[in-house]
Amino acid sequence: MFCSLGALGRSLLIQRCCPLCARPIDQTLKGSTPCRPCQERLQLSPEGIKGWHPLPWQALGRYADGFRALLLKLRREPNKRRFHALITLLDQGLQLPESAVLVPIPSWKHHHGNTVPTLMAQRLGLPSAPLLMRHQARLSQHHLSRNLRKTNLTGAFQAAPIPEKQPAQIWLVDDILTTGSTALAARDALHHAGYAVGGMICMARTPARSCRR
Ligand SMILES: [Zn+2]
Repeated sequence: MFCSLGALGRSLLIQRCCPLCARPIDQTLKGSTPCRPCQERLQLSPEGIKGWHPLPWQALGRYADGFRALLLKLRREPNKRRFHALITLLDQGLQLPESAVLVPIPSWKHHHGNTVPTLMAQRLGLPSAPLLMRHQARLSQHHLSRNLRKTNLTGAFQAAPIPEKQPAQIWLVDDILTTGSTALAARDALHHAGYAVGGMICMARTPARSCRR
């Protein structure tokens, strides 16, 4: 039964609905997250996934199959409610020090750039600071080989000068972690300016080739 058909009684009127499939949601779920069948379909869980390569990272899920298709769709057709539901679920699995400060990785495009990292940082409920500037328009990373990606990003970021009371530990925020070249270039710029970087938070991690089999 879809909630949009509502008005079928008091219970349905107070029934929360899944922001992804609009079906009534299990009331035991915390916050406004995708329903359990949607989490299973997209291979997501409140624990998220974590790894160490090429820098410590925490993600909601693998950038593959249904979750990849959903994120691509949300980029074309932004939907705040769906987006917030994914961030709420991501938030439940994060393990960060209390003193963590989030720094979104800026897009190199001045217009129609990717606003997802900034929205994620705002929504995650931790302090955030726009410490990075992307001061050179580069080629899109999308079509470049791994080595060219690294070269393409050398010097692409500049970090704001360190304030008197510097943040204890910075966590970078981006929507997708693929080779990590962008994240490493951003981390290097922050290190160079004297900041301590704990790792990266992202919506999805592209699976290694060996995992695709
Ligand atoms: Zn659902």
